[in-house]
Amino acid sequence: MSDSRLSVLRDEIDSLNQDLLVLLQRRAELVLEIAKIKRAQGLDGYDPEREFEMLQGLMAAVTGAFEQAQVKEIFRSIFRASVDIQDRERRRSLRVLRRDLVPEGGIRVGDVAIGAGRPVLIAGPCAVETPEQMEEIASALARLPVAKVLRAGAFKPRTSPHAFQGLREEGLKLLREAADRHGLVTVTEVLDTSTLDVVAAHTDMLQIGARNMYNTELLKAVGRVGKPVLLKRGFMATIEELLLSAEYILCSGSDAVVLCERGIRTFEPATRNTLDIAAVPLLKGETSLPVIVDLSHALGRRDIVLPCARAALAAGADGLMIEVHPRPDEALSDGFQQLDLASFAVLVEALGFGVGKPRAEVEIGRE
Ligand code: PEP
Ligand code: MN
Repeated sequence: MSDSRLSVLRDEIDSLNQDLLVLLQRRAELVLEIAKIKRAQGLDGYDPEREFEMLQGLMAAVTGAFEQAQVKEIFRSIFRASVDIQDRERRRSLRVLRRDLVPEGGIRVGDVAIGAGRPVLIAGPCAVETPEQMEEIASALARLPVAKVLRAGAFKPRTSPHAFQGLREEGLKLLREAADRHGLVTVTEVLDTSTLDVVAAHTDMLQIGARNMYNTELLKAVGRVGKPVLLKRGFMATIEELLLSAEYILCSGSDAVVLCERGIRTFEPATRNTLDIAAVPLLKGETSLPVIVDLSHALGRRDIVLPCARAALAAGADGLMIEVHPRPDEALSDGFQQLDLASFAVLVEALGFGVGKPRAEVEIGRE
């Protein structure tokens, strides 16, 4: 074959490639337009029946050098790529990814701003146990020169049904009273939709625990309440799944969502969970929602809370959650991981939260 014939043929191939590209892009536009119409009707973009019909039609029309199996493979990859662009388009429209979601002043829980540039401390016992216990913790917390939220569970999601389940409504009242006596705001966990109203009536912020991150009906219901929500990452949840759980809340009427990394399950038994520090910058890169780190449930031990708290702040966390109890050895739940008040005070000061202490350490990594 002469060189000139070869170059004519190659030119034709080049031109066909260009035509195919134009056709493929036109097809992609149509795919996205169809997906939009179907989404408006509440339908999924992917339709296996339609795909099957298209393939049948194509198979019946196959003539030429490409055999049926090859044509099938080529169109299958076009179909797969079409699903991918629909997913990408759908992801782009997610509310959780919007950069304008959180106002400059952060998410307000009473007079506390989370995500406004200064790290916030969320501290308190695992569970509300007695009025005296709550008083001791609330008064110690109130003295700290840092923006803080008092935490304590009244409805506890325990692994064993025989373990302490929390004081329920009585616990909510004790938490509220202790916080009010000391001018503190509160966060407490809501376990289900049936107790949502009573929990919401007593607290400033609602916590969705790790076990409930996938409870979509509860997520929608807390979104409708309109109070700020602290959403914890499930211990088997990916970062993407956490973002989509936040999306449920955001789509139900509340933009005030704070995300919480609290460790995920791995094969490592030295800590209760594995603290996923990388989740902090990754989440902050994807969303403008504040991100806090729960050191107590991530680690399940108190001896390494300080270095891990430093790591969390250096990674860009907007706050820390730490469990504190006046007498951890007597705690009705999670005693092994709670700090006593003296150790807690030392830790807060070591983090640069203390009176007159430089905040340099706290500011590492945030510009
Ligand atoms: C809690 O914060 O009280 C709690 C139970 O944590 P988690 O849902 O992360 O296990
Ligand atoms: Mn706990």
